[in-house]
Amino acid sequence: MSFVAAFASAQAVLQCLLPSADAQLQAGCAHFVVGVMMSPYFPFDSKFYRSWLNTAPLAETVLFRIAHSPRLSASRFRIVARFIGCAETRPRKPGEPKPVKAAVFSSTHTASQPFLHIEDVPHPTLEAGHLLLRVVACGVCRTDLHIVEGDLPALRPRLIPGHQIVGEVVEGATKELPLGSRVGVSWMGGVDGSCWFCHHSMENLCDHPVFTGYTVDGGYAEYVAARSDFAFPLPPGLDDEHVAPLLCAGIIGFRSLRVAGVEKGERVGLFGFGSSASLAIAILQSWKCEVYVVTRGESHRKSATLMGATWVGKEDEKPPVPIDRAITFAPSGKVVVSALASLRKGGVVAINAIHLDQMPAFDYDKLLWGERQIRSVANMTRQDARDFLQIAHDLHIRPNVTVFALADANQALEAVKKETEQGSAVIVP
Ligand SMILES: [Zn+2]
Ligand SMILES: [Zn+2]
Repeated sequence: MSFVAAFASAQAVLQCLLPSADAQLQAGCAHFVVGVMMSPYFPFDSKFYRSWLNTAPLAETVLFRIAHSPRLSASRFRIVARFIGCAETRPRKPGEPKPVKAAVFSSTHTASQPFLHIEDVPHPTLEAGHLLLRVVACGVCRTDLHIVEGDLPALRPRLIPGHQIVGEVVEGATKELPLGSRVGVSWMGGVDGSCWFCHHSMENLCDHPVFTGYTVDGGYAEYVAARSDFAFPLPPGLDDEHVAPLLCAGIIGFRSLRVAGVEKGERVGLFGFGSSASLAIAILQSWKCEVYVVTRGESHRKSATLMGATWVGKEDEKPPVPIDRAITFAPSGKVVVSALASLRKGGVVAINAIHLDQMPAFDYDKLLWGERQIRSVANMTRQDARDFLQIAHDLHIRPNVTVFALADANQALEAVKKETEQGSAVIVP
């Protein structure tokens, strides 16, 4: 019998065993299942495999057993770990840290289920060039909502979201980021440093980026690992909850002002007034700009008025004067067209949204002619982060926050979805 035939028949035998393994696992006996999963013939696409690993307590049991099995080769473990989407890349040894609590998103999630499951996951391990952080706060961003609602494609079967991480360095300290220091980690979790964009000061457009809480696990957890060259020392003077929303909403809001080319004293429209816009307004005011806010949510209109916007209107209203720049924050193409309709000739609309529902057709002659521009805002550079954190410190920017426990991560996402949060939602594990 050829090797291929032998492999196929072994796999066929194993397929027959799977229902029985499923029954045993449901009955609480993981041993047999672990044996099956570690077989070199294990069919990774099996529906049982997925259902086992998406049953939280059982997934942990199975993973734990696999990690502790002396029979498992390192390469086999890596395959299992990659499939599961866990950060661990080698078997845990006795005495290594206990699992940590995290809010986990599964790619098999359906609309009737909560977005995230709170469960124990393996303690993240430290790789070269990384820090291990104890998470003290993690901001909730609309991008997290796009991930769990499937607007952005799932890249891993299991994922811990969260990319506005305030953490304390507990391992992997560097000279700049010593043990016990407080650092921030944002959406941009790493770049390759070698592509055309990285060589042209556009690392935000890197061909092989790492996105925190999307391509790697993020901060809706007690601990997280992050690249040390993408962690920023945080300004003192702001507590953990209040500094968290600065790390994406703040930095990318600031980058949007750069992309729109805002100059001092200009008239600037903010279309949408969630976390990001409410941080950008402070910078615009320090630049003596007039700020025109158009937003759907009544509570958001109230906040804009309280924060001193020059003019505040509903979603179907238009600023009373032509504006020089507009930044749109809503994930809606219609809003981009409204912003365009408010611009003077030569003005710019910058779209601060990773996802738009669609871009409706619009009248070129009336809306884009006259050298008006539409630009998207993609990610951020480390320089954006450093510059914004300095400005936030100098201007004493202090966001309004609503704090949620890690166990209430789903409520935090709901609050962002329904725009009921006051300022920015922040999870504190
Ligand atoms: Zn690159
Ligand atoms: Zn974000």
